[in-house]
Amino acid sequence: MTARIFNFSAGPAIIPESVLEEAKENLLSLGSTGIGIMEHSHRGKAFLAVYEQAVARCRELAGISNDYEVLFLQGGASLQFSMVPMNFLTSGQTADYLITGVWSEKAREEAQRVGSVHEACSSKDKNFTYIPQELKPGSSPVYTHFTSNNTIFGTQFRTEPTPAAGSFLVCDASSDIFSRPIDVSKYGIIYGGAQKNLGPSGVTLVIIRKDLIERGQKELPTMLQYRTHAKNESMYNTPPTFGIFMMNLVFGWIIKQGGLASMAAKNEAKAKVLYDYLDQSRLFKGTAQADSRSLMNVTFVTGNEAIDQQFVSEATKAGFDGLKGHRSVGGMRASIYNAFPHEGVVELVKFMRDFEARQA
Ligand code: PMP
Repeated sequence: MTARIFNFSAGPAIIPESVLEEAKENLLSLGSTGIGIMEHSHRGKAFLAVYEQAVARCRELAGISNDYEVLFLQGGASLQFSMVPMNFLTSGQTADYLITGVWSEKAREEAQRVGSVHEACSSKDKNFTYIPQELKPGSSPVYTHFTSNNTIFGTQFRTEPTPAAGSFLVCDASSDIFSRPIDVSKYGIIYGGAQKNLGPSGVTLVIIRKDLIERGQKELPTMLQYRTHAKNESMYNTPPTFGIFMMNLVFGWIIKQGGLASMAAKNEAKAKVLYDYLDQSRLFKGTAQADSRSLMNVTFVTGNEAIDQQFVSEATKAGFDGLKGHRSVGGMRASIYNAFPHEGVVELVKFMRDFEARQA
């Protein structure tokens, strides 16, 4: 088999090797059923057991109470950009959006198609290199939407913002979901595509307060109402069975790692190796403000595009893949999600040190 290399991709991203091994075993036969995981009916006992375990593990990991529903939907985080306002931003109402990057702008764009939106803060003035500390809430917003981790710009909220009184908090947690403990009770809705911290693309985890599901618009197309998916345990139509299976394995892997607190400690230690190096480097420079740095996506530049390109090209040859920054910002980005090994960051820093020495 071809050896695996260090994969710094922003998503779809690295999946724990033990999970891939376990998945491989179940491709031809899920347990002793004689039918592969992708070939099982979603209505059959074998898949239902997978689904139930995935929900139970998800609840266990994040301490999710019975006041919340755990849904596995399709359409990515991008469909949630639309579903949230379509369900809750009814005419005459306003929602607050915290603008900290391209994904929050996209979320806002979809809300604007439906209703009125207030910008509660923005870090666009400095090319999204920081997380604003102060919010200017709108008047009586129905909800407050934020992006907990900005995948492209490498910034992350340290704690959740406080929503305006009477409004519920909605979080796009696509790129840092389950990378640290989360107090679900502070949120109305948390959503994230699986393809960074939770498994393959094609399945979106949505954690939503039950009373909100009831409040959602009733005139929407069936598939766009949360109640449809809640009533049918995410199986109104054929769910992404393989994605749910993979998510279940990843949840199991996180539990084995010691849960979210332990995951957070590992992620902090891992990111520190890279940030400590960046802080003393004469060649490379982190692009995010220190107090807003993401533990998931570390963005950096040399200040010279040609050298950036040379670095990415040499790094790729040396077995460090996916380091090119997002096309909208350039430079470099090391995505080091839950499954990314500590040793991979140590090796990258060694390579960067060498590269820096060669530039001198
Ligand atoms: N939000 C964030 C923070 C993201 O990083 C991404 C994908 N990179 C998206 C939303 C869009 O997700 P999807 O492709 O699942 O629609």
